[in-house]
Amino acid sequence: MNWKNRICSSVDAVFRHKSLSLQLILLYMRKIVILLLSIFVLLACKRTSQVAKVEEKAITVPAFSSDSAYLYVKKQVDFGARVPNTKAHEECAVYLASELKRFGAKVIEQKADLIAFDGTVLKSVNIIGSFNPKAEGRILLFAHWDSRPWADNDPDPKNHKKPVMAANDGASGVGMLLEMARWMGQNSPTVGVDIIFFDSEDYGKPASAGGDPAEDSWCLGTQYWAKNPHVPGYTARYGILLDMVGAPGATFYREQASEYYAPRVVSAVWSQAKSLGFGQYFKDEKGGAITDDHIYVNKISGIPSIDIIQYDPNTESGFGAYWHTIYDTMENVDKNTLNAVGTTLMHVVYNEK
Ligand SMILES: [Zn+2]
Repeated sequence: MNWKNRICSSVDAVFRHKSLSLQLILLYMRKIVILLLSIFVLLACKRTSQVAKVEEKAITVPAFSSDSAYLYVKKQVDFGARVPNTKAHEECAVYLASELKRFGAKVIEQKADLIAFDGTVLKSVNIIGSFNPKAEGRILLFAHWDSRPWADNDPDPKNHKKPVMAANDGASGVGMLLEMARWMGQNSPTVGVDIIFFDSEDYGKPASAGGDPAEDSWCLGTQYWAKNPHVPGYTARYGILLDMVGAPGATFYREQASEYYAPRVVSAVWSQAKSLGFGQYFKDEKGGAITDDHIYVNKISGIPSIDIIQYDPNTESGFGAYWHTIYDTMENVDKNTLNAVGTTLMHVVYNEK
């Protein structure tokens, strides 16, 4: 406003030294100048309000629906245990890829024959859905979608050869990411996002087999992708793995490998959860060190990645009591937990510039 007044008084100063006809011309000129200035101010104000609107839109975080995420978890479980080389596994792969396509993602099904610790050839498929595929700044979100073939941690040894339904240990993270994908198709985040459902994570060597624990017999799909990324030279700002994220009252501690490779990502996610009121789920304390998909994304791909994984200090394994038992079913999936993790992640992704 001060700037406009200064211009007008300088026009008045010129007026006092001119003849009448010149004064008339100058009168018109003065009106034109004032008119032009008014238009300029008006346009400037309009532009400012448009910028404000764009900024406002950029930080609008869609409301994660835990009802919807729950149904995506249930849908997977309804196929049966998604053990590689079974019909349920094949059908679920078709479902996951078609859902990502329906939400508008660019989908790649990365198929591979992976060799298990016992020599079994696992017909595997990593399912990759990309949003904003051309954006340079990217975030990687991932979970495993296969089920463990053996409930070898079940309290009853008779169940050790039965498959795990994997409602939490697999389907919960995938269901949550499907719900996030549904939003990304409708209301794109500023950054590019790649969602990967990794296969053959849970075919690792059972402890009962004895001998070498064969750590690398786990996470076969991730190891394959890390060595053969779907885009040559693929990288992302950071990665977030979701594993066992749906149990009632689950607690997530700062997993040690995540702390080692990506401490800033851990801090950002945990503080986001706290600010949203989910501090009872995200404990700001050190958890265990877990062999999980994020290890290979860190070590081979070099993308700083964290694992949001349930840690239960009261069980011998450190995982939920349902872990690798026949009780990893929908009864052990809770919408409040899905909401806490899903809402936190939506804020993390949508606030990324
Ligand atoms: Zn597992």
